[in-house]
Amino acid sequence: MSDSIFTKIINRQIPAKIVYEDEQVIAIDDINPQAPVHVLIIPKLEIENIVTLGGSVNSTLIGKLFDAVNKVAELTGCKETGFRVVINNGRNAGQEVEHLHLHLLGGRKMNWPPG
Ligand code: AMP
Repeated sequence: MSDSIFTKIINRQIPAKIVYEDEQVIAIDDINPQAPVHVLIIPKLEIENIVTLGGSVNSTLIGKLFDAVNKVAELTGCKETGFRVVINNGRNAGQEVEHLHLHLLGGRKMNWPPG
């Protein structure tokens, strides 16, 4: 399996605007933002290639991702105003990049239900 575009970003093979990074997670600005704040929160762990929510995604990893959500919400000023977290998981949800990631969207009023 070839490296995902996010793995290439993690390995600094292609550029991205990094909003937050620690040992396990990188958060970058989405290249095609759907809101004033649109940050992708991406696990660095490559255990059996984490593509979707499934076998190798354990509660520790989920906790790390949501710790990063909190940090990014603070860094982007969304913590007070509110924000949405989305995972497009699999084909029916419209997942384009086969590397698990969370979208943090904020900076505007969100509609419900989502499309
Ligand atoms: P998803 O549809 O949930 O798989 O979302 C993939 C997201 O990755 C989309 O919102 C894209 O705009 C975004 N994306 C794709 N390539 C890049 C890139 N090189 N840098 C930043 N975001 C990207």
